[in-house]
Amino acid sequence: AKQNNRGRFLIYQPQMDEEVSEKLNITTGLRQALSNNEFELYYQAQYNQAEQIVGAEALIRWIHPEKGMIPPFKFIPIAEETGLINQIGDWVLKTGFEFLANNPNFRGNLSLNVSAWQFARPDFVPSMLAMISEAQIDVTQITLEVTESAVLTDITETIKKLSEIRSLGIKVALDDFGTGYSSLAYLKNLPLDILKIDKTFIDELETNDRPPLLESMLSIGHHMGLKVVAEGVETQLQLARLIQMKCPVFQGYYFAKPVPKAEFLTLINQEKAI
Ligand code: C2E
Ligand code: CA
Ligand code: CA
Ligand code: CA
Repeated sequence: AKQNNRGRFLIYQPQMDEEVSEKLNITTGLRQALSNNEFELYYQAQYNQAEQIVGAEALIRWIHPEKGMIPPFKFIPIAEETGLINQIGDWVLKTGFEFLANNPNFRGNLSLNVSAWQFARPDFVPSMLAMISEAQIDVTQITLEVTESAVLTDITETIKKLSEIRSLGIKVALDDFGTGYSSLAYLKNLPLDILKIDKTFIDELETNDRPPLLESMLSIGHHMGLKVVAEGVETQLQLARLIQMKCPVFQGYYFAKPVPKAEFLTLINQEKAI
């Protein structure tokens, strides 16, 4: 038996050798990717009930010179384990801020994902502020997406950091709401602006016109004065039912997939955007 980094004991299995070498490959590859600029930000538009673009979520892609596109689920967890997420996360913020600086005709909100590790860094806020002042952008267009695992590690510290971020005019979204250990007790103490409801709850709308959990989450958001974004909206039926339930903002393949910057700029020039 050997111990993994979470302190649990695992039974040895031959496939682990493969997993370990795959991990090493990705770790080496990630270092190269950082120095060779192999990362790209894609943008997925977000829409209101009038089907206007009100914002976008930036999603990282790794375009490997030989292997092609590597999706984030394959490398973000490894980046987190190895600490490389700090540099990758800084790159994401910097690139997102540059996008806002260079595209003043995009008036919407830009959501940037922040990993738990990155958020936990003591210098997270000051280093982000340095990047913002470098880019000379309007902070009110920025939303940071944090997950429950990021905010629950040290709740007192989290509240301090989130309050500071929000006092600057930056918005905070709780990502993947409903999938973790969300308890109302902590939710009511968190300084948030937006709840992002996970796709798994939106999927249920295919077979149920008012899924009780989804209805509860929308109601919680409403009562707490938070904006709710439905993630992973794929069909017209889901959209119609979400509108019936008064959900204000939608993101999903029904409207738009995540696309490279140039394509996103074309999209906002073609479609109704705020
Ligand atoms: P997430 O933050 O929950 O992002 C939403 C994911 O759902 C994205 O996957 C998006 O492409 C996908 N999606 C959106 N609409 C639909 C839909 O209608 N149907 C389906 N099937 N999928 C949809 P993606 O881009 O593969 O990213 C996966 C995860 O990787 C993200 O989940 C996030 O946790 C992480 N990630 C992506 N970019 C970054 C980043 O820049 N920094 C960090 N720390 N994590 C990131
Ligand atoms: Ca997200
Ligand atoms: Ca999400
Ligand atoms: Ca997710």
